[in-house]
Amino acid sequence: MQTSYRHKSAFMRIMQIAFMHKILMIFSCFFAVLSSAASFAPYIAVYFIIGEIMAVYPNFYEINSVVVMNYAYLALLGVLLNILFYTAALVFSHIAAYGTVYNLKINFVTRITRMPVGFHITLGSGALRKIMNENIESMENFIAHKLPDITAALTSPVIMAGILLWVDWRYAAASLVGIVIAVLMQVIFISGKKQQKIAKRYQQASENTSAASVEYIRGIAALKAFGQSVYSFKRLYRAIKRYKNIVILFSRMFENSYSAYITILNNMYLFLIPVGIWIGLHSNDRAAYAADFLFYLIIIPAVASIFMKLMYVSFDSAQTSGNIERMDTVLQAEILTDAANAKIPENYDITFENVSFSYDKTNMALQGVSFTAKEGEITMITGVSGSGKSTIAHLIPRFYDIDEGAVKISGVDIRDMKISDLANIVSFVFQDTHLFKTTFAENICMGRTNANKTEIVAAAKAARCHEFISALPQGYETVFGKEGIRLSGGEMQRVAIARAILKNAPILVLDEAAAFFDTENEYLIRQALNELMKNKTVVMIAHHLSAAKSADKIIVMDKGVIAEQGSEEELLRSQSLYVKLLEAYKVSLEWRFDDE
Ligand code: ADP
Ligand code: MG
Repeated sequence: MQTSYRHKSAFMRIMQIAFMHKILMIFSCFFAVLSSAASFAPYIAVYFIIGEIMAVYPNFYEINSVVVMNYAYLALLGVLLNILFYTAALVFSHIAAYGTVYNLKINFVTRITRMPVGFHITLGSGALRKIMNENIESMENFIAHKLPDITAALTSPVIMAGILLWVDWRYAAASLVGIVIAVLMQVIFISGKKQQKIAKRYQQASENTSAASVEYIRGIAALKAFGQSVYSFKRLYRAIKRYKNIVILFSRMFENSYSAYITILNNMYLFLIPVGIWIGLHSNDRAAYAADFLFYLIIIPAVASIFMKLMYVSFDSAQTSGNIERMDTVLQAEILTDAANAKIPENYDITFENVSFSYDKTNMALQGVSFTAKEGEITMITGVSGSGKSTIAHLIPRFYDIDEGAVKISGVDIRDMKISDLANIVSFVFQDTHLFKTTFAENICMGRTNANKTEIVAAAKAARCHEFISALPQGYETVFGKEGIRLSGGEMQRVAIARAILKNAPILVLDEAAAFFDTENEYLIRQALNELMKNKTVVMIAHHLSAAKSADKIIVMDKGVIAEQGSEEELLRSQSLYVKLLEAYKVSLEWRFDDE
């Protein structure tokens, strides 16, 4: 997920993203420069007016009012042009912004559908939504408003410096000393390694918090069903607490340099006045001296405000770089591509050959895993939590690409198959089911959209969910998630099983599909699963060793490697890990009955 664009400036990357809107953005910047230039006309007019006044000092009645009025008109013209050019800049930037964000969104959406499923699992739907809703949307604001503002903010100091130097370089030098000190301090401080690191952590903490909140809120129903609310709330609580700490650290770190910057910029007279006095002591032309000094005294607060703006601009760009970087984790992640000569498997035996896999390139989730799950058989995978069971399940439909070895179906490497073919032959039932906000009929025929009503009902009956669906206000046409339509976890699971029954794929992967439910649901789900598993290659992940009786083969995982495999009979010898798990399982069952 590393991006090659990391080091490109935000501005360059935006230009790249903008495609054909580039020209509009250049127009916008051009008008922004003009507007910034026009905004200095009043200062220049003031300079000449002061000159006129001082030239006649102290006989003010001699002032040439026509000339003064002309300068006043010049000032007014500058203000009007400033507004006009700025409006033009905004018009161009807005058109560019809407077009660019439109392109980005289309690009983003087409891209995420071609991503390996594992990408979504790892990133989490909260983060993906945030990127789509916030990071990409922020691009619109950036191009529409920040881009012209930044251009203007960057041009102003240059024009300002030109004017300051043009009038009298000595005052200019005095003003610049303060500015240079302030800016240098800020730049050196911000680019410090530690500061950069904290800034990065700040971004991450903010993201974690928002992802945790989204997932918490979306999952409340399921959490309650599983009685896990306290645990899950703790996760959100921890994320918020971490965020709070980092915000405090972040603010503390920047408070000194920020205060110094503001103090220096707001006290530029400190540098200017001594120089002014010194020049005054050595000057012969009193009128010219007074005119110049007055001009600098008037213009210096404007200098300060220009550099204040510049600081906000640098903050905005940093934020935008972050947004672009996060967007690029999606836009530049690897997508799945079909093999050139796609092969079709002849039967549905699954073989893992020496498979090693790591989610993060450091901790191995699986190491040298080899086994075969035969067609028509149930292969059960068990082991303690975190031992790699789900990882094995995820590799079969190619949610992730493995690092070493091969996953094959009847000898064909799944990477050599067409992605759609693989998706068609594998059904996957998760522990936590996701139903879509649409009718139950559509939810069930997700895996085979051309199914007719009779087939849908047959699948629902087999999955033991026909009864409660028919009892809903509009039966199969009831929309899931609409007011009042809520299901228990077990009911949702049965709908998911109906979906898999209807799809009728020859390979079935069940990841703890029957875990966590009450006894009644468990009984129904078990019946539904038995219906589903007939004549398929079944890979069943289960904590529940009660399911072991029906398994043809049991694989016991331990820390990412296969500890034991064989039939239950073979594993029931003394001292095996399986026997230990079985004992632990029995104890946990007793606990459950004790609870009740
Ligand atoms: P099980 O299903 O047996 O509980 P998993 O296959 O889910 O175990 O996890 C195996 C290992 O891989 C664990 O150490 C877990 O922390 C890690 N892991 C699982 N999913 C991810 C992920 N999306 N990103 C990073 N690490 C993960
Ligand atoms: Mg698991």
